[in-house]
Amino acid sequence: MELIPLPAFKDNYLWLLHHDGHALVVDPGQAGPVHAALQRLGLTLDGILVTHHHADHTGGVAELQAATGARVCGPAREAIPGNCEPLRGGDQVQLLDIHWRVMAVPGHTRGHIAFFAERVADAPLLFCGDTLFSGGCGRIFEGTPAQMLASLDALAALPPDTRVCCGHEYTLANLRFARVVDSGNDALLAYEKHCRQLRAQDQPTLPSTMGTELAINPFLRSRTAAVTQAVQAQDPSARDEVAVFAALRLWKNNFS
Ligand code: ZN
Ligand code: FE
Repeated sequence: MELIPLPAFKDNYLWLLHHDGHALVVDPGQAGPVHAALQRLGLTLDGILVTHHHADHTGGVAELQAATGARVCGPAREAIPGNCEPLRGGDQVQLLDIHWRVMAVPGHTRGHIAFFAERVADAPLLFCGDTLFSGGCGRIFEGTPAQMLASLDALAALPPDTRVCCGHEYTLANLRFARVVDSGNDALLAYEKHCRQLRAQDQPTLPSTMGTELAINPFLRSRTAAVTQAVQAQDPSARDEVAVFAALRLWKNNFS
């Protein structure tokens, strides 16, 4: 089983997973990079998993399905191109002989889903689209801060060795903000150094692991004293945990 992030657009990753000549791809915003990888590796595309409706995650779906006949599995609550099998939180999908558990993770979009597998090769695997990023989280375009916080809580409860496959290479920009919010966090500084080295060599910082994210991601740490106090220094009106999380997200939106 091999997991490959295919770069697309400016900073997207289209995740390709393959085994024994069969592949699945997650969030193909473009068909070109997927076609090229299938050809180069001699793979048959069995399935296309889609986390949410944004064009940078779905733009290549119809073309890939037409060319390969692959199944398309995506959120029931959103309009997905191609002939899409509708999925909701709690559903299961069998693809590449792997049992994928569908999680509803609304916030970035209203119907956003994530795909989790208990064991792929030797560790759990999560495709979380634009809900959780390394060192950050997606913007709340359609849902509410309370929904996004609950979605991140659900992801945070997955095993610490879960490999976290996100939709974008936003890690360094996220960590620059994280350092301001969680300034006493040594794990964060060490992780940033590690990620800088990877990017300097043009390597992806992903997948991350859930254990790493729990240690360094301010959006999974908004209830810690350090992050809560930093947020309240910016916005003293943020009292309860949802208000703190909302203020943290807003702070990041305006951070440069
Ligand atoms: Zn998106
Ligand atoms: Fe995106």
